[in-house]
Amino acid sequence: MDKISVIVPCYNEEEVISKFVEEIKKVIFHLKKVSFEIIFVDDGSTDNTLHLIKEYCKEKQFRYISFSRNFGKEAAMLAGLKYSTGNFVAIMDADLQDPPDLLEEMYMILKTEDYDSVGTRRITRKGEPAIRSFFARLFYKIIHKMSKVEMVDGARDFRLMKRNMVDAILELKEYNRYSKGIFSFVGFKTKWLEYENIKRVAGTTKWNFKNLFVYAIEGICSFTTLPLYISFFFAFLSFLFGIVGLFLKISFDLKIIFIIISIFFTFLFLCLGVFALYISKMYLEIKNRPVYIIRETDERNSHKRILN
Ligand code: UDP
Ligand code: MG
Repeated sequence: MDKISVIVPCYNEEEVISKFVEEIKKVIFHLKKVSFEIIFVDDGSTDNTLHLIKEYCKEKQFRYISFSRNFGKEAAMLAGLKYSTGNFVAIMDADLQDPPDLLEEMYMILKTEDYDSVGTRRITRKGEPAIRSFFARLFYKIIHKMSKVEMVDGARDFRLMKRNMVDAILELKEYNRYSKGIFSFVGFKTKWLEYENIKRVAGTTKWNFKNLFVYAIEGICSFTTLPLYISFFFAFLSFLFGIVGLFLKISFDLKIIFIIISIFFTFLFLCLGVFALYISKMYLEIKNRPVYIIRETDERNSHKRILN
């Protein structure tokens, strides 16, 4: 009998948990031939989320992991993947922006067609602030040009995978995790389902512009080292500048010299900044800190103490 593990990262989702459970139960009821395991990962919520989750976990299909503090959605997904026992594993948001009823279609595709994973992507960004959509698109354009690993614009984390793909993902031990890149790095055959953006049923998004910017930098640093070479480009430019200067018969005004010096210092610091970015990431990798720390989990897990 097939078993689908559904991983649900939750950070302050008290307003949506009950609606999510209602919806997922419909799917469980519908797919009678499959057994389910719903793994809530409480990512250090400060509201009533953990309490609600524990109530639901009295039923045998529901399990939970609760972190000692907020470690971020990436950490929550990783913990879920590690604890999952199904031969099919899904990742899904708690806010119903990822329609649970798609699960059945995804499962049928994996059963009947030659794919290892079914991913989802939004074809519209309706309901999202225009400025956010603009920067998101810009990010995908940049990363597309810079990295060999393909990142799909509009791809959500919502997907169903076969066990072989999940095991491959767990082989990647990096601390700075950027799942959209990891999913495509491990390869395998993915079929994409498309749907229009759906608004959260309740509660608010945990992403603000600053978080998204940091996440975009994470994506770039994790999957391309190209920016490290930016200094060579500027060095070449300044060399050319010097040559041109040699042939120009002009008397340099002090102001111009100042401007030129300031421009090159700007470039210099820019390059140093890029180095700092990568070195700081390396520093975190070398320290080998756990990606998350578990405070408590359901009884079936309590004998395990997996930290990262
Ligand atoms: N989430 C999490 N940890 C965080 C932020 C978010 O586990 O630090 C969860 C959140 O509870 C939700 C999912 O990740 O289930 C997606 O978050 P959100 O809906 O805020 O993001 P958006 O859909 O706006 O991209
Ligand atoms: Mg959401």
